[in-house]
Amino acid sequence: MDRLPEVCDVVVVGGGPAGTTCAHLLAKAGFDVVVLERSRHPRFCIGESLLPCTTRVWERLGLIPKFEEAGFIQKYGAYFCFADGDDTEYFHFGNAAFAQAQHAYEVPRDQFDKVLWDAAVEAGAACFDQTRVTRFNTDGDRITGVTVTTDDGEHTISARLTLDCAGRATLLGKQLGLREPDPVLDQVALFAHYDDVILAADEDAGTIGIVATDWGWMWFIPFSGGRASVGAVAHSAQFKLWKKEGLDREGIWARILGEVRAVRGRVAHATQSRPVEVKANFSFRCRELAGDGWVLVGDSGAFLDPVFSSGVHLAMCGAEQVADLAVRALRGGRVPVARDFRPFERRSRAALAVFSKFIYAWYDDGFRKVFMQPPDRPGVRLLKKHIISLLAGDVFNRAFALPPLYLLLFFARLGPPPTR
Ligand SMILES: Cc1cc2nc3c(=O)[nH]c(=O)nc-3n(C[C@H](O)[C@H](O)[C@H](O)COP(=O)(O)OP(=O)(O)OC[C@H]3O[C@@H](n4cnc5c(N)ncnc54)[C@H](O)[C@@H]3O)c2cc1C
Repeated sequence: MDRLPEVCDVVVVGGGPAGTTCAHLLAKAGFDVVVLERSRHPRFCIGESLLPCTTRVWERLGLIPKFEEAGFIQKYGAYFCFADGDDTEYFHFGNAAFAQAQHAYEVPRDQFDKVLWDAAVEAGAACFDQTRVTRFNTDGDRITGVTVTTDDGEHTISARLTLDCAGRATLLGKQLGLREPDPVLDQVALFAHYDDVILAADEDAGTIGIVATDWGWMWFIPFSGGRASVGAVAHSAQFKLWKKEGLDREGIWARILGEVRAVRGRVAHATQSRPVEVKANFSFRCRELAGDGWVLVGDSGAFLDPVFSSGVHLAMCGAEQVADLAVRALRGGRVPVARDFRPFERRSRAALAVFSKFIYAWYDDGFRKVFMQPPDRPGVRLLKKHIISLLAGDVFNRAFALPPLYLLLFFARLGPPPTR
C-alpha cells in the first residue's frame, strides 16, 4: 500500500456509496482526493434494493455498463402485501407520473460497493482501505482533516475539505454533538441471505416484496443467481418481548418466518447462506449537515427506516450535489464553508421531510389499507402514478411530493367508500 499523504484537497472518510461518489467526481474535477475506508472491499453491507431515480448519477459516473457486467438483476417495481400474502398491490416504475428510468437494480452490496470503489480509484482518487479514522481534527470551529490510527501509531491528514461519509456510525455528528434520535421511529432489523430461492419469471424476477405485519414489516429482495436478502423490521418493544420469551436471534427469525406466510413460501426450499444479523437504533438525523471545512454526506447525516429503499439513493444524489458545490468553492482557492453547502442542506431536508412523512404513514394501519387496497374513488389512478414517482425516488421537491401522501392519508381517514 502507498504511504498515507499528509496533505490533500479533500479527505473522504468512508468508502461506501456516499464516499466513493464524492471521491469519484472530485478526483475527476482534478482535485487531490484521499479516501479512508476501515474495511476492505468486497465487504458485506445491508441496503440492497436501489431506486430508478439514482440512474442519472450512475450514468454520470459511467457505472451502468459495470452493473450490467456484474450481472445485477433489474428491478422494475415493488409489490406490497399483508402477511398472509393477500391483497398484493404492485407498483410498476414504468407507470410513474413523471418520466424517469424504468428500472433500478437489486444488488449484493459487497459487489456493488466494490464496483463503486474501483471506479473511484480509476477516476484518480487515492483510496486506502483497512484504514480507520479515529478523530476529526479542529482549528476553532473549522475541521482541518482527520487522524488515522494504525499499528505504527497516529497519522494526521490535513485537508481544505473533510467529508464524513462513514455511515450510521455518525463519527463527526457525534464529535460535534449534532446527532438526534428520531422522535417516532425506534426499530430493530433482523436479516439473512438465502441461496436457491425461486425467482419470479421474466421482468418480475427483480421485484422487491414488502410485507406488512402486525409488528412491522418484512422485505424480500431477489438477486440474480437465485439468491435473496430477507429481512424484518420490528418495533424495539416487540423485539424485547421476543427476547423475554427466551428467543435468541435465530429463534426470533424462525418465529417470524413461521408467522409470515408471504415470505415463508419464498424461502421454504432455500438454504440460508448467512447467519441472522441484527441492527438497532438506526433512525436519527443530525441538526446540521455542513460547516466550515466539513460536510456530512449519506447516512452520516441522517437515516430513517429502510422500508422505501431510500438510503443509497439519498447517499449518491447527496454526494453528487456536495461534490459539485465543493468544486465551485475549491476552485475559488478557499476553504469551503457552511454557506457553500446550503443548497445541499435544503435539498436533503426536503427529501427527508418527504420520506419521513411516507415512513410515519407506513406505520399507520389506515394508511396501509388504502396504500395496499386503493379505494375505488375518482382520481385514485392518477394518485397512484404520483405515489410510484415517490417510490422511484422522485422526492427532492416537497411541493410535488407531499400532496399525494396527504391525499392518501385523507382517504385513510375517510374509511372505505360507500358500496353502491
Ligand atoms: C436494515 C437496513 C436495511 C436497508 N435496506 C436498504 C435498501 O434496501 N436500499 C437502500 O438504498 N438502502 C438501504 N439501507 C440503507 C443503506 O444501507 C445506507 O443508506 C447506505 O449504505 C448509505 O451509504 P453511505 O455511503 O452513506 O454509508 P455506508 O454504506 O454505511 O458506508 C460507510 C463506509 O464507511 C466506513 N467507515 C465507518 N467508520 C469508519 C471509520 N472510522 N474510518 C474509515 N471508514 C469508516 C464503513 O466501513 C463503510 O464502508 C438499509 C439500512 C438498514 C439499516
